Amino acid sequence: MKTIFYDLSYEQLLDVIINKLNQPSFRVNQIWSGVYKNLWSKPEEFTNIPKSLRDKLFDLFEFQPMLPIQSLKSNDNETEKILFQLQDQKAIETVLMKYDQRRTLCISTQVGCAMGCVFCATGQMGFTRHLTAGEIVEQVLFFARQLKAVGEKVTNIVLMGMGEPFHNYDATMKAIDCLGDPNGFGLGARRFTISTVGLVPMIKRFADEKRQVNLAISLHAVDDSERSSLMPVNKKYSIQDIIDACKYYIEKTNRRITFEWALIAGKNDSEQTAQKLANLLKGLLCHVNAIPLNPTSQSIYQASDREQTIKFQKVLEKNGIPCTIRLRRGIDIQAGCGQLAIHHSS
Ligand code: SAH
Ligand code: SF4
Repeated sequence: MKTIFYDLSYEQLLDVIINKLNQPSFRVNQIWSGVYKNLWSKPEEFTNIPKSLRDKLFDLFEFQPMLPIQSLKSNDNETEKILFQLQDQKAIETVLMKYDQRRTLCISTQVGCAMGCVFCATGQMGFTRHLTAGEIVEQVLFFARQLKAVGEKVTNIVLMGMGEPFHNYDATMKAIDCLGDPNGFGLGARRFTISTVGLVPMIKRFADEKRQVNLAISLHAVDDSERSSLMPVNKKYSIQDIIDACKYYIEKTNRRITFEWALIAGKNDSEQTAQKLANLLKGLLCHVNAIPLNPTSQSIYQASDREQTIKFQKVLEKNGIPCTIRLRRGIDIQAGCGQLAIHHSS
């Protein structure tokens, strides 16, 4: 299998062009801006470099490492999900959500996930492998090319597709750095949001690196036994461990954290639970994103209704914790994470 072009950092490309292909260094900028600014991915598009170099480049590297094998659009046309087949035939999914001027991509970081959350379709698939940085990057470029054709751009990226980004830390950060390069794709760190199940050592590492990427923590419960029953990783890192890591993060970065809360009927959506959550988060620079559960075929849980969702939100806001209710987008195309791929694999 050829190396994926998008796995190369700028410095790595520089090394290849100069030391392997014996080309002058200005070729690097031509290729880099061709790929990341002009969004080229076919040899004939690289009109700015000699054909002989084009041929070498496309011999050495894979520029189309994933094939779209299924595409679904929601009835309102505002959500599109693509199932991609990777070089090793594994499948991942990426979702585009259009909202006003925003074009937000929800991208995957792993094939499957090792964390096993019981309400999550990806968690129920188990873990297959990490994505490479290039596979993470190509999900974005693929949609960026498609949007460019209609005069639009990717404006925001959430790492909330398949997988746990902090379990694949290095590749995830390499992808974000690659896409953030102002001389290339140029999507700054603040346009990204990483969502994590709460891997405490990685939250601390992320804090120490003082990255400008937004951080979201999937909390979903205030009681350790309850959280452990929904999210097995809680047996390793307790709620208090996570809150302590969040405090550390806020101290280091002065950035606001988002807590994700999937509202599950009769399980974590009572007003008492909302009050406990408010007590837990009191004084933290944060807000809560509440989203009614997207029921999966493999789980027994149901979504909270609208009335209960609003009650939950009211309690938090009364306690001074901002709470946004997120819409369940693209439910008719199974745009909840992992829900398309699970059908592919079964
Ligand atoms: N692994 C990371 C990111 C991917 S999941 C994480 O867990 O944070 C992205 C978000 O979707 C998480 O907040 C996760 O808890 C939530 N999620 C997973 N399955 C869901 C479902 N069926 N309904 C609603 N939210 C779900
Ligand atoms: Fe993995 Fe996130 Fe799904 Fe949990 S919710 S299984 S961490 S993808």
